[in-house]
Amino acid sequence: MEKRPFNELGLSPEILKAVDKMGFEEASPIQTAVIPHGLAGKDVIGQSATGSGKTAAFAIPAIEKVDVKMRQVQVLVLCPTRELAVQVAEEFGKLAFFKKGLMEVPIYGGQSYERQFRALHAGAQVVIGTPGRVMDHMARGTLKLDALKVVVLDEVDRMLDMGFRDDIEHILKSVPAERQCLFFSATMPRLIQDLIKRYTRDPVWVRIEAHAQNAPQVEQIYFEVDRRSKIELLTRLIDLHDFRFGIIFCSTKIMVDELDEHLHARGYSTDRLHGDITQAQRTRVMDKFRRRGFEFLVATDVAARGLDVDDLEVVFNFDLPNDAEDYTHRIGRTGRAGKQGMAFTFVAGRELYKMQNMIHFGRLKIRRERVPSMDEVEEARGNVFFEKLRATLEEKKFRAHDQMVQRLIEQGYTSTDVASALIHLLQQGSGADVPPAKGPGTKAERIAKNEAPKAAKVERADPSAFPAKATSASALGSARSTHGKPSGDKFAAQKRGGFERQARTGREPGFTTVTFNIGRAQLVTPADLVGKIAGVTRLPAQVVGAIDIHEEHTNVDVATEHAATVVAKLAGIRVKSQSLKPVLAPGVE
Ligand code: ADP
Ligand code: MG
Repeated sequence: MEKRPFNELGLSPEILKAVDKMGFEEASPIQTAVIPHGLAGKDVIGQSATGSGKTAAFAIPAIEKVDVKMRQVQVLVLCPTRELAVQVAEEFGKLAFFKKGLMEVPIYGGQSYERQFRALHAGAQVVIGTPGRVMDHMARGTLKLDALKVVVLDEVDRMLDMGFRDDIEHILKSVPAERQCLFFSATMPRLIQDLIKRYTRDPVWVRIEAHAQNAPQVEQIYFEVDRRSKIELLTRLIDLHDFRFGIIFCSTKIMVDELDEHLHARGYSTDRLHGDITQAQRTRVMDKFRRRGFEFLVATDVAARGLDVDDLEVVFNFDLPNDAEDYTHRIGRTGRAGKQGMAFTFVAGRELYKMQNMIHFGRLKIRRERVPSMDEVEEARGNVFFEKLRATLEEKKFRAHDQMVQRLIEQGYTSTDVASALIHLLQQGSGADVPPAKGPGTKAERIAKNEAPKAAKVERADPSAFPAKATSASALGSARSTHGKPSGDKFAAQKRGGFERQARTGREPGFTTVTFNIGRAQLVTPADLVGKIAGVTRLPAQVVGAIDIHEEHTNVDVATEHAATVVAKLAGIRVKSQSLKPVLAPGVE
């Protein structure tokens, strides 16, 4: 697959500066193939996999064609969804960053006409829109296409699937005959070939094979796993690899809801997408995900279709996809633009036959691995910490504290003692990325036993950071028994980030105590309650303050403005097989 440096493609200095600023090192194969034809004014039909860089393949030549002195629409891009229109507009904005005077505007249904009209009226030269809204503006006379030089159809197959055929034809018939036409699609069914025949002239066909594109960049692994242990396996893999950005695919809406709740309750930062979620909400979730406002998106195939995101570290097939094509489509979202991604597929019971068929007929390269044990997860966490320390030392990313160290050494401690004590302190502190210490007397156990800790300080997670993660070991009995570890409770209170809270007396200002009818007798841990509260109310974990566990009840301090919500929402929720009956208890202690 040929790739070339951008500076060999005949581009202007403005574009070269922009791609450099965007961090693109070389043109992707589809870009290498399409850009020179695009610049030469040829019609182009481009076919390549998701994530192969089609946007820049058409945006770059389109931008080069724009005469910024002309305040008329010169480029029109049609996209199937508003998400895509916004995204493509953003990419145009970045690529045209150094081309002064170029204005692009996304136009799509749901946004006020007025706002879009103002941008058009101001002289935008590039319009990126969904077919319906583009037609509306044409009919109102607010979008004039007589100066149009380039028309782009992005994701043509999807636009046809969505029933935009008549709109597309109407638009193509209304634009000047002399325009250049660029078609992009992942597949080329008959219908598209018809359109191509009628609306393009002597087009150049560029086709980049999907397999060669995806396969080497994505490490693909499947696990045979008991249906009930899937969540446990999922969280273990996330912890083991320290993933921070990925999609988890489920086959049903119900599973999406359930898994999202579960992960959320375990302290992972997640959100969900499926067909029952309103358009406004979907846009919000997608935007937030793109901005990395949360770590894991739980979604069905259909809901995730309009979503293009950068640099996914991982794709989980929590449920098996329908066929090899869906599989390839799902994992095409990771390992983009030359970066190595990972794809994990969970196979339960008889699905194994389906998996083997998919591998065989789809010629997929997926290898089988055994489920990692809890020990491996913990060891990996230790390694992460070790690596961080090493990197800090190597890059000298720290201030010298010679005086303090010197004073300790003068008192007879060795530097090894000092370093060990610091590591110990870190473990006692935030616990972030530090392997939990084993054996008796760890903080987690102290919390579980409700012994008073030495420092009567309540720790709070940094509110700007992602909600802290709960460790993966918890209530899935079957998974636990396979590696012979003690009950999940011991681990449940040991957190990667900051769910840990120490029992203490007295209440902080701004907090109200809520009493729960569950306590030491039910082996409840602070993490159980914080996780449940965060999971059910969707409030950040920081709204929970001190937790005081008694034999038959537990007092939980909750930010006063949320106390009533917590009481209302947690009522009837089951924790440790007990139905919760929270009550506001202003005077307790
Ligand atoms: P497609 O439309 O083919 O699915 P996109 O155009 O959305 O793919 O590109 C996928 C991602 O790859 C985007 O984040 C884009 O910024 C990035 N990208 C595109 N071209 C390059 C390149 N030459 N080098 C590095 N990253 C690129
Ligand atoms: Mg695209």
